[in-house]
Amino acid sequence: MDLSTLTITEARRALDAKEYSALDLTNAYLDAIEKKNGEIHAYLEVWADSAREEAKAADAVIAAGKSQPLTGIPIAVKDNILIEGRIASAASKILENYKASYDATVISKLKAQGVVFLGRTNMDEFALGSSTENSAYGPTKNPHDTSRVPGGTSGGSAAAVAAGMALAALGSDTGGSIRQPAAFCGIAGLKPTYGAVSRSGLIAAASSLDQIGTLGKNVEDAKILFDAVRGHDAMDSTSLPDANIPPKAGRKAIGVPREFLTDLTPEIRAQFESTLDTLKNKGYTIVDVALPSLQYALAVYYIINPAEVSTNLARLDGIRYGLSVPADVIGEVYSKTRAAGFGPETRRRVLVGTFVLSSGYADAYYRKARSVRELIRADFAKAFETVDAIVMPTTPSPAFKLGEKNSDPVSLYLEDIFTVPVNLAGVPAISVPGGTVERDGKKLPVGFQIIGAWGGEQTIFAIGKDV
Ligand code: GLN
Repeated sequence: MDLSTLTITEARRALDAKEYSALDLTNAYLDAIEKKNGEIHAYLEVWADSAREEAKAADAVIAAGKSQPLTGIPIAVKDNILIEGRIASAASKILENYKASYDATVISKLKAQGVVFLGRTNMDEFALGSSTENSAYGPTKNPHDTSRVPGGTSGGSAAAVAAGMALAALGSDTGGSIRQPAAFCGIAGLKPTYGAVSRSGLIAAASSLDQIGTLGKNVEDAKILFDAVRGHDAMDSTSLPDANIPPKAGRKAIGVPREFLTDLTPEIRAQFESTLDTLKNKGYTIVDVALPSLQYALAVYYIINPAEVSTNLARLDGIRYGLSVPADVIGEVYSKTRAAGFGPETRRRVLVGTFVLSSGYADAYYRKARSVRELIRADFAKAFETVDAIVMPTTPSPAFKLGEKNSDPVSLYLEDIFTVPVNLAGVPAISVPGGTVERDGKKLPVGFQIIGAWGGEQTIFAIGKDV
């Protein structure tokens, strides 16, 4: 088997045809991890023994002729998704030894299918960042050029799939954290409709923006994993009723918000236009759409995200769970624990979030941002009255160098311009490989982003397969 090209569909066929066993497949991935993880650092922890046990159990199910789409399929899990008895640290020192006491709903669903869990993948601490450089455990490297970032925050998951160290992976996306690393690593990454996948057991960053999603080598793999984890869940009060709207038959109209696509590097623009031509040749109509409020999306995101992050992270106080630094009075336990446990970007978000929520400023910042968020939602709603999908590049430029944007957090925030509007609106979007651009003699992948209307995952999968 060639792990660099293997897909879930092909592995399923071969497993069911008994060409190799789930244990063979798992061992092949564990070997690849052994060889590559030292350099790429996609995994924070590898569960070799339990993975082999899960593979053997899957082989028994396959032998009994009872396999499901993901039985015996080895996947990677982002370090902010809970698996009972396993450490889930969100790549933070404050949760370094925190063991999950229950399974996330997505994990229960995958366990029921007999999935093999290879290990937990690196990320930016608490899913704050765009490069994995905010991990307390050191960055992941881009398999296409190890001097560059893999994107973030699900950079470990994306690099694991791209480097043949997992067949597919789970990630989470609050403002682009699945789509941007998928783009930088040359794979497919889906951010589902808000509420389509349960957030029960996802370590919260910004609850109104967070979604668990899927990464795979191609659209079909991302879809197979999504179909396995989606669905209503009583454990998540924001979970949607099951609504898997089938793709519309016939010719589709695709909208391009041209006035919003200004700051693109020329090669990314060229790749984007050439992908549009491909779609045109396949019978799609390409039309301009106006999304006038998107110009405010970054500003709105970088108020709402820190506000919710500061609230969610308040529970990490050295008393309930996680790191606890002893001190004489309780206030000092809080401050010493949080000072020792949180990295610089996490502290920055907590400070900004506390400020925008404070009584004197909440009207000017937080409430204003919430109002503008409604305008952004309304822009999308209006556009989807006339088009079936909206497309734009996933990122304004290809993978940047490790260390390149470390000194200037705002330059890193600007990278999120095309991904954050989707989370603010709650709509689904997928990044699919959209060609390459050359940097320093290396071919770097770029992403083509397809945004759907609420519940429109199956439509964007169908379009993604035509790219
Ligand atoms: N880069 C964005 C941020 O830092 C998005 C992160 C994410 O999607 N988790 O907030």
